[in-house]
Order: sequence, then structure tokens, then C-alpha cells
Amino acid sequence: MSYLSKTRVTDCYCGKIVILKTSWTNDNPGQRFRVCPNIGGGRAIIAGLLRKQKACDEKIASLKKRLRVMAAVIVLLGLSLLF
Ligand SMILES: [Zn+2]
Repeated sequence: MSYLSKTRVTDCYCGKIVILKTSWTNDNPGQRFRVCPNIGGGRAIIAGLLRKQKACDEKIASLKKRLRVMAAVIVLLGLSLLF
């Protein structure tokens, strides 16, 4: 039995039927919640995706920096073997 079928779908104070959504934010990943269609939870989802994207970009930048350092070490080791 799903969460929705156990509980009665309720109306918002504004008269709209609330929608069951899944959170994609970092704070509550996978958390189900109800939202009024008049409010729109899209902003929280986009903010969570942007935070996730920023974390990925920072990780990529960090890995690129490590790669440059490792390439420099390999070049220096190669040069030291020549002389
Ligand atoms: Zn409402």
C-alpha cells in the first residue's frame, strides 16, 4: 500500500488539491511531501540541483588540479632520469 492510498488526499486552504512530490534537495533527498500547485515547489528542486551541480563542478576542478600536479611530477621524474 502506498503512502498516498493510506491517507486521504486533502485540499489546500486555497481550494486546490495538494500534489505529492519527491524532494531532490540535499537536505531531504527522496523525502515525499505535499505541496499546493499554487505555491509550486520547483524552486527548491532547482536549488538542490544547482547545489549538486556546483559540488560536481568543484570536484571536477579539484581533480583537474591534481591531474596537472601529477603530470608535472611525471615530467620532472622523466627529466631526472635523462640527466
Ligand atoms: Zn493552496
